[in-house]
Amino acid sequence: MAISNSYKTICSYCGVGCGIVVHKDSKGGLKVEGDKAYSVNKGMLCSKGMNLNYVVQDTSDRILHPEMRWSRDLPLQKTTWDVAMERAAAVFKSIIKRHGPDSVGFYVSGQCLTEEYYIANKLTKGFLGTNNIDTNSRLCMSSAVVGYKKSVGDDAVPISYEDIELADCFLIAGANPAWCHPILFRRLEKHKEENPNVKIVVVDPRKTQTCAIADLHLQIIPGTDVVLYNAIAKRLIEKKLIDKKFIKNHTDNFEELKEKACKTSFSEAAKICGISVNDIKKASQYIGLSKAFISMWTMGLNQSVIGVDKNVSLINISLLTGQIGKPGAGPFSLTGQPNAMGGREVGGMANLLAAHKDLANPVHRKEVSNFWGSQEISENPGLTATEMFEGLNSGKLKAIWIVCTNPVVSLPDSLQVEEALKKANFVVVQDISHNSDTTKYADLLLPAAGWAEKEGTMTNSERRISYLNKVIDPPGEALPDLEILLKFAQKMGFTGFDYENASEVFDEYSLMTKGTAIDISGLSYQRLKGEGSFQWPVPNSTHRGTPRLFTDKKFFTPSGNAQFNVPVHTLNQSEKLSEEHPLILTTGRIRDQWHTRTRTGVVNRLNTHIPSPYLEMNNVDAYLRKLKDGDVAIIKNNRGEVRVKVKLSFDIRKGVVFMPMHWGRILGEDFGRANNLTSNLIDPVSKEPDYKYSAVEVSKY
Ligand code: SF4
Repeated sequence: MAISNSYKTICSYCGVGCGIVVHKDSKGGLKVEGDKAYSVNKGMLCSKGMNLNYVVQDTSDRILHPEMRWSRDLPLQKTTWDVAMERAAAVFKSIIKRHGPDSVGFYVSGQCLTEEYYIANKLTKGFLGTNNIDTNSRLCMSSAVVGYKKSVGDDAVPISYEDIELADCFLIAGANPAWCHPILFRRLEKHKEENPNVKIVVVDPRKTQTCAIADLHLQIIPGTDVVLYNAIAKRLIEKKLIDKKFIKNHTDNFEELKEKACKTSFSEAAKICGISVNDIKKASQYIGLSKAFISMWTMGLNQSVIGVDKNVSLINISLLTGQIGKPGAGPFSLTGQPNAMGGREVGGMANLLAAHKDLANPVHRKEVSNFWGSQEISENPGLTATEMFEGLNSGKLKAIWIVCTNPVVSLPDSLQVEEALKKANFVVVQDISHNSDTTKYADLLLPAAGWAEKEGTMTNSERRISYLNKVIDPPGEALPDLEILLKFAQKMGFTGFDYENASEVFDEYSLMTKGTAIDISGLSYQRLKGEGSFQWPVPNSTHRGTPRLFTDKKFFTPSGNAQFNVPVHTLNQSEKLSEEHPLILTTGRIRDQWHTRTRTGVVNRLNTHIPSPYLEMNNVDAYLRKLKDGDVAIIKNNRGEVRVKVKLSFDIRKGVVFMPMHWGRILGEDFGRANNLTSNLIDPVSKEPDYKYSAVEVSKY
């Protein structure tokens, strides 16, 4: 909503989704400040959010015009939108005619707005005739999605940020919110300051900044999470620290869980996890005696070859203690990207359809195609993120359209991703940055509008849907992603894509949700602009949204009960360490960078915190390899190698090394591209990659 020259919007970085007010002066200069009236951040912003204006105003690396080339040995050359779209449509039509619809695919992003995501899905699944559309959210939240579906019947985060101030015990697993969800962490920190009796348990192989407020840090061996959560479950059951009434009336499979998941002795579990029995008991006691318990997690659980098992074993603890559907309680996955949840709502994954409908369900496919007036939706499962690039490598996939993401840096096993893009017949890259590691493979480069240059909606980690204002025009000939997709659909000759604006797309999608678990048929742009943000469901036009799910203890499962799930694998299934590669490489984010630095990398003040990639290594491991702090090391395995300086620390477990995931090639060299080394194993159900466990060796350069 414009207030003279001030505009309300939402931060475009992480899933916390902080409110921002952008002030535009008469010369078009921008300033940002936290929105004091917004419940999420109450005026606070972290370093990334408070520097967003510099990102928008630095156009040095922006793609300003469509660019195209007729063959890979020619340079990209400026072209018009019309020629670019003609070419894209002609190539897609010809490839589909020769090889069938499953020979093309779209790879989109958790940074896309909901309307863009919705149209990309409608276009692909309804009209191109393939389910080959997946998103980089596959790389961060897909294990949590499956975990929720198995446990509560839908991809539904039960709680709100306001529950943080109502809880008295937190288990933070595989997450470093102090750096990766900073404003949420500030709320937690303040709550702990004001209520010293609040207990915080952190589970992480690294002693991160988050541990500064922990009462207990369980520094487990990577990959042993399921053993730990099963041991906590066993202890809670043995000590009768469970909610028997809740279990009896509102859950299924308790006896199976008790019998099958709680067999390992505490001493054996402690040995596997590399922690003490006493610490397992202490964590269980904190949780079992708490009045309101929240578990928070992110990539440490999700990015694993047993990511779904890790998720269900953690959610089991909330169910055992009846800590769900009440104030200050519940499992709470912290979304990485700003609109990963909005994307899932509109079916932004290869296995999903809009409104949380399932691609594998023929009734759902029929409902969606009828709603769209499209051809029948294919029953062929779509390729997921990593499968799409394997498909390009094997020749199964011929063309890929990449929207708002930089897979050469962000996908595992980067060198194979580059091989895949070299082999592709046709690569479209639609983005804001000209100089990413991915754009060099583009046959067609399309300039997209960025944050503050377009309108739309996003959903944050607590199911909160917010409207983002357009503040300025995009530079050059850049267009909103939505407009680009609609241009392509029209060039393909598809009907049903003649929207006047983003609001009409939102209205179509919200109508589709009517009667579903995520019903937002009571929402419109008018309400979002006039009344502010809403947490779904919002089933009618007077409804104010739903801060907390399952307060009636009715879950979205067929029986209406929450489900205890016995993890398929208790022990880790990652690649094996060997004499040649004896160290576990784990990757993650740092405080002031975002994803592959295409935006944060252009802000000088964000580059001062940690200016270059590095390897964090335990002092003992370094001593054994004759490495000193600041030495340049080579980190190697069978997939690739990188060269970075080592940072010695006792905060990381012996046997484990850490690299930030943000850096791509620097001056054409693979100095610090961590994903040259990461494992290409994926969870068999969620298809999320095993980023947190790759076997490597480190030596002096
Ligand atoms: Fe943006 Fe996340 Fe920082 Fe909030 S916490 S300002 S949403 S990056």
